[in-house]
Amino acid sequence: MKLTVDRKACTGAGNCVRLAPDWFDQDDDEGLVVLLGDAPPDGLRPLMKDVVDACPTGAIRVESS
Ligand code: SF4
Repeated sequence: MKLTVDRKACTGAGNCVRLAPDWFDQDDDEGLVVLLGDAPPDGLRPLMKDVVDACPTGAIRVESS
C-alpha cells in the first residue's frame, strides 16, 4: 500500500494519530499530520481503512501498490 496525506486539507483533528500512532504524528507548530512511514504492509489494510474513514477532512489516501 501507498499512504499519502494532504496537509493542506488536514485540520489537526488527530484521529489518525489516535488510531495508528506508529504511522501518523502531528507537528508541534500547527498540529498538522506528519507521516511516519508511507508503505504500510498489506496486513494493515483494515487499520488504514479505519484511519481513512475516521479523518473528517478526507486528507488521508491509501492506494494499492
Ligand atoms: S485525522 Fe485527518 S484531519 Fe485529523 S490529524 Fe489526521 S489527517 Fe489531519
